[in-house]
Amino acid sequence: MLNFTVGPVMSSEEILAIGAEQVPYFRTQEFSDIMLENEALMKEFVNAPESSRTVFITGSGTASMEAAVMNIFTPADKLLVIDGGSFGHRFTELCDIHHIPYTAIRPERGRTVTEEMLAPFAGQGYTGLLVNIHETSTGVLYDGRLLGDFCRKEGMLFLVDAISSFLADELDMLEIGADVIITGSQKVLACAPGISIIVMGPRAIARVEDNESKTMYLDLKSALKNGERGQTPFTPAVGILRQINARLRQIKHEGGAKAEIAKIKAQAEDFRSKIKGLPFEIVSESMSNALTPLHPTGASAHEIFLELKDHYGIWICPNGGDMKDTIFRVGHFGALTPADNDTLIAAFKDLQSKGKL
Ligand SMILES: *Cc1c(COP(=O)(O)O)cnc(C)c1O
Repeated sequence: MLNFTVGPVMSSEEILAIGAEQVPYFRTQEFSDIMLENEALMKEFVNAPESSRTVFITGSGTASMEAAVMNIFTPADKLLVIDGGSFGHRFTELCDIHHIPYTAIRPERGRTVTEEMLAPFAGQGYTGLLVNIHETSTGVLYDGRLLGDFCRKEGMLFLVDAISSFLADELDMLEIGADVIITGSQKVLACAPGISIIVMGPRAIARVEDNESKTMYLDLKSALKNGERGQTPFTPAVGILRQINARLRQIKHEGGAKAEIAKIKAQAEDFRSKIKGLPFEIVSESMSNALTPLHPTGASAHEIFLELKDHYGIWICPNGGDMKDTIFRVGHFGALTPADNDTLIAAFKDLQSKGKL
């Protein structure tokens, strides 16, 4: 299968080979060294403030979204949540579950958040803002600098779910003033799913230390404490952490985050140039390099997904809910090349010749 979804995506041969190895025992200095290197490279790639920390949670991206929300905030907070799609909506559900007061800002699907939309919330006592900087369900990339400036002026904590944006788009924690960055193993890191990652700046760490623990497995206080010696409180997904180490080292070797972002940008631009002339409309006003959200004008998006999967050995990413028949997404990360884009375009053209597009 050729995989253009938004995760899990295709891994390189090197990463696959690690997945095939025996999983080593992990309460060792050797494994601690790997973890400490993972932490340092994560901090480097998001340009985290000096005293920041990184923790690795065994669980998919949502586990880290929940861990961040429940360890950093309390019912005494008052949050703004950007709810522009299914991942933004997940933050509102997490706030509901953990009784954290919030107001949701709901931009129209496919639209970004503007300064005018934020203005009414200035001076209202909000203490934090939660955003999925790339709302993967609609393909919208929000303006991190705009949101960060608002938080800075208001003295709010700024929590950024960059799960599908880390290593696809520029992401500079210091520059945008983010207190928290979250990502996961199965997106641009292109490893197996099962690990999510939280980078925390000093203000977020102070919150975690001051708040009472309300969870054992997702307790960030104990994750931070154990992380000081390169360990985790419980048995982590050791194999995936070893894959992440190989991947981070490879990215460093090839020029760091900037070079990786440039590679994905080129893959996205190659695809976007090649779909000109096909019966698709791009449905986002501000796109990430990670994926292209498309509205097929002459056929059901879900039918196209099924045709490609069942007859061409190609996965594109279907949408759910009310977007099921109108939108599909094509991812640009994982072990993909421009030649793979050609294969996908040829399949689209073949479908078109059969009257199915
Ligand atoms: C993939 C993704 C997640 C996490 O989803 P999981 O299925 O829990 O890994 C969260 N937020 C965004 C923006 C994502 O793209």
